[in-house]
Amino acid sequence: MTAGELYSLCLSALKESVGEDYRFDCDCLFESIVGLDRVKRITKGDLTVSDTVCEKLINAVKSRANGEPLQYILGKWSFMGYEFFVGKGVLIPRPETEALVLRADEIIKANKLSTVFDLCAGTGAVGLSLAKLNPDCTVYLFEKYDEAFSYLQKNIEIFSLENVKAVKCDITDLATFDVSLLPLADMIVSNPPYIKASEIPSLQREVLKEPFTALSAGEDGLVFYRAISEKWLPLMSKNGVFLFECGDGQSSDVISCFDGKVKSFEVYYDFNNIDRVVEIHV
Ligand code: GLN
Repeated sequence: MTAGELYSLCLSALKESVGEDYRFDCDCLFESIVGLDRVKRITKGDLTVSDTVCEKLINAVKSRANGEPLQYILGKWSFMGYEFFVGKGVLIPRPETEALVLRADEIIKANKLSTVFDLCAGTGAVGLSLAKLNPDCTVYLFEKYDEAFSYLQKNIEIFSLENVKAVKCDITDLATFDVSLLPLADMIVSNPPYIKASEIPSLQREVLKEPFTALSAGEDGLVFYRAISEKWLPLMSKNGVFLFECGDGQSSDVISCFDGKVKSFEVYYDFNNIDRVVEIHV
């Protein structure tokens, strides 16, 4: 089959089954599997594609049509301009999380912070980006789940940074690891699970393919903020700062989880005017 024919076949399969971004998805899969970008596909459309490659792409398109996230099929996704390995068992880094990283980066640089903890690190999108941007700062990345932790380790390997450490533990239960081995954190950054149990069933089919444990945060969506407020404060240096991502309308509840401990706070809104980043000084 020629590249042009194969592309048309995939495009029409995706048009029926994927939302309005079907063309983008098709281009990404085509480039990743056939190895021809948009320009080459158009200028060399009559190139013959081998049966093996055709079959590989058709299988990928089928799996995308069945609701598998594009990012899982590609196996890599860009965040803050860096490539992260992603796949089943780990949350896909989201563009809105870049706001959290940008604000954290600003604070680290302005105050020359030396130790940052990234709780619920997943792929390491947040913590590894910060470590890359701040070579003088040591970033500890905490993750509980085996599959997510293996993606974290893979990403640490390709980033090949000296200033990161991965800790496998449950951040809601400090008895699961030796906290005495940790230095005090100048900043704790976290994009924890924050979706209310009642909202999970109405999520997009692609999101439902991501780990439930990376999304769901109990009845009120606040389980992790509460646990962090209760348990991690003693692990912070004086004048420490917490920086969280939260969901639509959650910022005031997140701040209430820190009742009586807050010196000052700030809420930042994303490009959809949703309260996305909460900064709490303690
Ligand atoms: N910190 C990771 C991210 O932002 C994973 C978050 C999670 O698993 N809830 O992508």
